[in-house]
Amino acid sequence: DLELIGIDKSFATSKVLSDISISLKNGEILSILGPSGCGKTTLLNLILGLEQADAGKILYEDREVNCLPMEKRGFNIVFQDYALFPHLSVDKNIRYGLANKKGLTSEAELAELIDLLDLGPHLKKRIDQLSGGQKQRVALARTLVMKPKILLLDEPLSALDGMIKEGIKQRIIKIAKQMNLMTIIVTHDPEEALTMSDKVLILEKGRVAQFGTREEIVASPANSFVKNFILEQL
Ligand code: ATP
Repeated sequence: DLELIGIDKSFATSKVLSDISISLKNGEILSILGPSGCGKTTLLNLILGLEQADAGKILYEDREVNCLPMEKRGFNIVFQDYALFPHLSVDKNIRYGLANKKGLTSEAELAELIDLLDLGPHLKKRIDQLSGGQKQRVALARTLVMKPKILLLDEPLSALDGMIKEGIKQRIIKIAKQMNLMTIIVTHDPEEALTMSDKVLILEKGRVAQFGTREEIVASPANSFVKNFILEQL
């Protein structure tokens, strides 16, 4: 399980995150939701280990991970732009991270993942021959072969539309539940956040506006920001 206790973060003189506290169980999906500039990406980077908090604690399975470098935390991210190798094949992209980690994921597990993400027919194609939804599935597969303890997704649906978006959304939910994988999603879209997560953290200018389940947020919005900004957009 993951616990954040009283996280603060500033850049130079501007405070970007204040007193963020949340907890999340394995297999749960959390969305970090809020408008541009509210601190979503900064919070994701702190969990990942790309940035250090100024104050507060991050606990994973009751162990403090604040001081651990990114590689030692074992949390993996799918970036918004996927960061795939455009001229390499789907197969090579998926196996890329395994080159130095022989045996981490067996061929049978790899085949299962490829099946789960419907990538079988595309393995020999180059990334620049794929659609946006197919690229997102490759990016997910490439991250999942690394067996992350937490899967972090930065705006995973924002580049996609309509049916493709819905398909990826359902797949992310299926992966989290089937693999009992804690999944943390950054999004600015209230509809996305409230339909795909077990818990939602709503940030307003770097502070927790509300942290709870969809039901809790819809039934009793914590303040006018949640009511007007979040629920008005549903
Ligand atoms: P968006 O949805 O636009 O990506 P966000 O909610 O993810 O926004 P952050 O990217 O976390 O927000 O940024 C929060 C604030 O921190 C912004 O005012 C941003 O300018 C500032 N900020 C982020 N990273 C840095 C940095 N490395 N140095 C200085 N300021 C930063």
